[in-house]
Amino acid sequence: MHLILLGPPGGGKGTQAKKLQDDYGLVQLSTGDMLRAAVASGSEIGLKAKAVMEAGKLVSDEIVIGIIDDRIQQPDANKGFILDGFPRTVAQAEALDRMLGERGIKIDAAIEVRVPDSMIVERITGRFTCAQCGAGYHDKFQRPKIDGKCDACGGTEFTRRADDNAETVQKRLDAYHAQTAPILPFYEKKGVLKVVDGTLPIDDVTKRLKQIVEGVTVG
Ligand code: ADP
Ligand code: ADP
Ligand code: ZN
Repeated sequence: MHLILLGPPGGGKGTQAKKLQDDYGLVQLSTGDMLRAAVASGSEIGLKAKAVMEAGKLVSDEIVIGIIDDRIQQPDANKGFILDGFPRTVAQAEALDRMLGERGIKIDAAIEVRVPDSMIVERITGRFTCAQCGAGYHDKFQRPKIDGKCDACGGTEFTRRADDNAETVQKRLDAYHAQTAPILPFYEKKGVLKVVDGTLPIDDVTKRLKQIVEGVTVG
């Protein structure tokens, strides 16, 4: 199974990808996570990407295509994957098509998690993550069961992203509409585009996604 989750920053792609990967034995491939790891390690790619990410702009196609090309060749990607945050431009979508074509892989579904801009600032400014295991939370919509303690690993340290502030959110939304939304017709033409209502509570979005995934597997 090979899935793509599309949708605006803060729309819930990462949250849902983590749930689906456990249920269907897939691996989540998040270019955002990979780039943040590169920034943290101080690698050459990280040095190039840091300022671009903090400004809410897109990192160059060349860099992210290279990262994904390496990543899908790793053995764990053989079991199937969920792309989260890639592709984000038409050039990336075309490059992905070539990479998968060479390996005889087809995308089963490209699912747009649709959330209006008006809800995104609250989603993003409330986002935080367990520093130990990476589990995602939200100040209002997804609090840990015990305040200050990660449900998944018991960790007590949390982080917030440098780019998750109200000013940068608008730039990221602009980039989404100008550069990423144009890839929706690309997948529509292939007949694999599906849409879920990303304004619903987290578990309801998961239910709809599973209906789509199971429909794709059966159909
Ligand atoms: P993305 O990966 O698309 O950028 P995330 O999955 O990180 O988005 O979600 C952004 C924030 O919104 C997180 O803090 C998450 O807990 C919260 N969130 C995700 N989905 C929902 C939802 N359906 N309703 C309310 N909050 C949500
Ligand atoms: P979000 O879903 O909240 O926008 P991501 O973690 O997917 O966050 O991405 C964070 C930042 O990393 C983006 O704003 C962008 O600078 C960079 N980035 C991630 N994926 C890509 C990509 N496919 N192409 C270009 N830049 C990317
Ligand atoms: Zn944790």
